Amino acid sequence: MNNSKYIYLDNAATTPMDPRVIEEVSKHFRETYGNSSSLHSVGQKAGQILLKSRELIASVINVKRDDIFFTSSGTEADNIAIFGVALKNQNRGNHIITTSIEHHAVENPCKELEKRNFKVTFLPVDKYGIISIKELENAITKKTILISIMFANNEIGTIEPIKEIGTIAKKYNVIFHTDAVQAFGKVPIDVDDMNIDLLSASAHKLYGPKGVGMLYIRNKGIKEGWGKFIQPIMFGGGHERDMRPSTVNVPGIAGFTKAAELALEEMEQESQRQIKLRDKIIKWVTENIEDSYLNGHPTLRLPNNVNLGFKYIEGESIVLDLDIEGIATSTGSACSSKSLDPSHVLIGIGLKPEEAHGSLRVSLGRFTTEEDVKYFLEKLPVVIERLRKLSPLKKGVKYMFDKNSTDHQR
Ligand SMILES: *Cc1c(COP(=O)(O)O)cnc(C)c1O
Repeated sequence: MNNSKYIYLDNAATTPMDPRVIEEVSKHFRETYGNSSSLHSVGQKAGQILLKSRELIASVINVKRDDIFFTSSGTEADNIAIFGVALKNQNRGNHIITTSIEHHAVENPCKELEKRNFKVTFLPVDKYGIISIKELENAITKKTILISIMFANNEIGTIEPIKEIGTIAKKYNVIFHTDAVQAFGKVPIDVDDMNIDLLSASAHKLYGPKGVGMLYIRNKGIKEGWGKFIQPIMFGGGHERDMRPSTVNVPGIAGFTKAAELALEEMEQESQRQIKLRDKIIKWVTENIEDSYLNGHPTLRLPNNVNLGFKYIEGESIVLDLDIEGIATSTGSACSSKSLDPSHVLIGIGLKPEEAHGSLRVSLGRFTTEEDVKYFLEKLPVVIERLRKLSPLKKGVKYMFDKNSTDHQR
């Protein structure tokens, strides 16, 4: 392993914390240790930081302060959204619509509800990973109580037609939840314009601390507000207005807020920068490495996501060999990378199991430089060639190197 540098290209699994966020969190770990529910001044101080954080993060996504509910993770926000709506509305109906490519934090709560007499439609996606609005509309019945469709996919980066989905949800008066954990802070989100009722986000995917998330819950303008269409799934000491009881992680939330502010401030510039790097990798690899292809949509994708398929070899081997070269990548979702099953997302976009096994996710981040990408593009073909030589599926592979490229002569 090259100890002199390690290049982290797995920002979709989690991100390193931004030093400015570490500063903010450390400050509050030192100073803001009170329980935000306590009456004394130490507790009140924590309560004020919490209030300020809620205000700031709400302003960042242009919603009301009281519509933000902090949670312990993106997974928890997804579970509250799905179980909370299902339980509250079970007298109205028992049908939920989602997609076949959701993160496990949405997929598995839906599967759990299926065991409890709910009916779930897992909408198929096209080869790019995009749902059909028509199929969504056709799937809605009188019993449909919830549509839960991710904003952007964590493996292939595809961005769903959220505004169109919101329009359909509104037309049929169905509650619309979106898991925006990958999209939040990377692409513009306007919950009003997009008719989003519930939105999940997580701090550690945007250079914030792990173990902090949030659920936006639209106050539908009715007297009971959110309490009318969602209920808590945990019961305890009344924090977060009973939606998510448990002593509030104020330092973590202050860090999440800082991270969200920075992400929004830098979004336009940063996404342009990452799109350039992203497209450079896609173009170079698909033009220069034989039998390689892009998974997901060429343009309707997150600025930081590259997902490539390589025939005849296994994604796991590529990840391990790149790691030896000092580069961190992934085969798909980190949560499932230890399982031997092919990714349900790659199967969902129509890949054969052996193709799904040959995929590599490269996710860029705020700290990824052009130099990093250059180094990656030097090492990747070497790794692919080495593995293909060993592959029982293909012997003696050649590469189509760009004759005009001096960067990558071998
Ligand atoms: C990471 C991720 C989650 C889970 O968030 P945690 O905070 O790690 O629980 C949920 N959905 C998507 C799309 C993700 O990428």
